[in-house]
Amino acid sequence: MNLESPAVSPDRYDVVVIGGALSGGATATLLMRHNPGIRVLIVEKSAQLTRRVGEATVEISGFFMGRVLGLTQYLNESHLVKQGLRFWFKNDEVTNLGEASELGARYLSRLPSYQLDRATFDEEVLARAVKAGAELIRPANVTRVELNSGGEQVVEYKYGEATRTVTSRWVVDASGMAAILARKNGWWVSNTEHPTAACWSRWKGVKDWDGRELAEKFPMWSKAVYGTRNTATNHIIGDGWWSWWIPLKGGDVSVGFVIDQRLVDWSKQEGDKLGDRLKGFLMKHPVAREMLADAEYCEEDMHWRKNLAYYSTTFSGDGFVLVGDAAAFMDPFYSPGMDWISFTTSSAANLITQQRQGKPMTELIVNHNRDFAISHRRWFESLYKDKYEYMGEFDLMSLAFRLDLSLYYWGVVEVPFSQGETALYVPPFSPPSGVIFSWLMSTYNRRFAQIARRRRATNTLGRTNKNQRCLIPGFTLARSDTLRIFPMMAEWMWLEMKEGWRSW
Ligand SMILES: Cc1cc2nc3c(=O)[nH]c(=O)nc-3n(C[C@H](O)[C@H](O)[C@H](O)COP(=O)(O)OP(=O)(O)OC[C@H]3O[C@@H](n4cnc5c(N)ncnc54)[C@H](O)[C@@H]3O)c2cc1C
Repeated sequence: MNLESPAVSPDRYDVVVIGGALSGGATATLLMRHNPGIRVLIVEKSAQLTRRVGEATVEISGFFMGRVLGLTQYLNESHLVKQGLRFWFKNDEVTNLGEASELGARYLSRLPSYQLDRATFDEEVLARAVKAGAELIRPANVTRVELNSGGEQVVEYKYGEATRTVTSRWVVDASGMAAILARKNGWWVSNTEHPTAACWSRWKGVKDWDGRELAEKFPMWSKAVYGTRNTATNHIIGDGWWSWWIPLKGGDVSVGFVIDQRLVDWSKQEGDKLGDRLKGFLMKHPVAREMLADAEYCEEDMHWRKNLAYYSTTFSGDGFVLVGDAAAFMDPFYSPGMDWISFTTSSAANLITQQRQGKPMTELIVNHNRDFAISHRRWFESLYKDKYEYMGEFDLMSLAFRLDLSLYYWGVVEVPFSQGETALYVPPFSPPSGVIFSWLMSTYNRRFAQIARRRRATNTLGRTNKNQRCLIPGFTLARSDTLRIFPMMAEWMWLEMKEGWRSW
C-alpha cells in the first residue's frame, strides 16, 4: 500500500477529509464502509504522524475502536490493555507513596479500554482507511476552503511547491485544534469559563507501579490492590491540578499535568527549561517524587498549551461537518476526547450517508447542530465546570468519581453495548432524558466545588488525603449496578448535613 500516492484526476471527490489522524481516518473508514464506490480524499499535513497527546481510551472510545473500527486484535497486540483510572492525593503530612490516599479499582476492569501510542495507532487507522479505498495525499496543507451550501465545496491545498484545487460535495474538517472551518468562519469560541493549561512529555525510567521495588518498600500498599496499577491511567492530584501517567507499549510513559489557571500560578514555577519546570512542579508531590526518581523526560517531546477549552458554534451545514478536536475540546480529565471523536465521526459519516441516500438535508442539519451543541454544553457543565476546585480533595473526588462513573455506565456506555453502533449517532446528554442527568450531575459537581471553596477559605483542604483508600469493585452493565447510585446519593446528603450546609 502506498500511503504517499497523490490523488489523480479527475479532481472531483464525494468527500474531502482535512486531516488524517484519528478523526479523519475514522470518518473515512465509516464512509467507505457505508457508501460503496464513494470517492474520499484525505489531505494530511504531516509526512508521518508523530506522538500526540490523548493516549488513554475509556469505555466508549474502547467500544468504538474495538467493535466499530474492528481493531480489537490489533489493539491487544500492539498497545496496552488499560486498567481504569486511579488517583493519588496528598496533604502536607503525606511524605511517601504509602501514605497518599488512593482512589481506584481493587480488581481488573470489566470492559475493554486501551493505552495507545497515538503515533502508531493513528497511522494504523489511516492505513486501514486507505486500504478500504480512500485516497490519501501527504504531506499536503489545506490552505483554503470555500463552502457552498448544497453545492460543490472547493478545497485548495499545497503539495510540495504546487497548489492544487479539488471540489467535493462534502468537506469533513478533522484538522484537530487547527479547527480550520470554525476559525475561518468565525464559529470558534474559547471557553473562558474553563481556563485550563497543560504541559507534558514522554518519559523513560518511570518506576513500575507493580514492580518488586515498590512492593518491597510499601508492602501494605502493594497488598491493597488485587489487579494491576501500572496499566491504569494514574492521576497524581493536587489543589487545582492533576497529572496523568499513561504507560505506552515499549516502556515510555506519557506524563503531564493540567492546571486550572485560576487556582495554580504556573509562572511561579522555577526552571530554565520547560521540562525542568514540569519535573520541578510534579516533584512537590510525594507520589510523583517516588515515581520520577530515576526518570528523564524526552526533551524533543515537550509541550505546553494554554486555554485548552474551546468549541465551534456550528457543527455542520449542507456540505460540511466538523469532527473531533476540529469541533470542540473540553478537558482531558476522564479522557473524553476520543469519546467525542466516536460520536462526532459516527454522526458525520451518517449525515453524509443519509444525504447520499437522498434524504432531505435541512432537518438533519438542524438536528445535528442542535444535538452537538446541547451535548457539548451539558457535558461540560455536568462534569468539568469548576471541577478543579475540588478534585484535590480525596473524600469529594471519591464520591464524585463513583457518581460520575456510575452515571457514565448507566446513561452512556450501556447504550451502544445494548443497541449497537448506531447509538453513537446520538451524543451524550442530547436526548430529552439528558436534561435530568445533566441537572443531577451539574448539581452535585457545583455543590462539591462550593464545599471545597469553603475549605480553601478556612484552610481546611486535604484533611482526608492521608492514609485512606477508596477501592471500588468496578462497574458492569448489569441493571443491578445502577442501583449503587442510591447509596452514593445518600452519602452526598450526609455530606451536606455534616458540612455542606455551611456553604449553602
Ligand atoms: C493535555 C491533553 C491530554 C489529552 N488526553 C486525552 C486522553 O487521555 N484521552 C483522550 O481520549 N483524549 C485526550 N486528549 C484529547 C485528544 O488528544 C484529542 O481529542 C485527539 O487527539 C484529537 O484527534 P483529532 O484527530 O481530532 O485531531 P489531531 O490528532 O489533532 O489531528 C489533526 C490532524 O489534522 C492535520 N491537519 C491540521 N491542519 C491541517 C491542514 N491545514 N491541512 C491538512 N492537514 C491538517 C494534522 O496534521 C493532524 O494530523 C487530550 C488532549 C490534551 C490537550
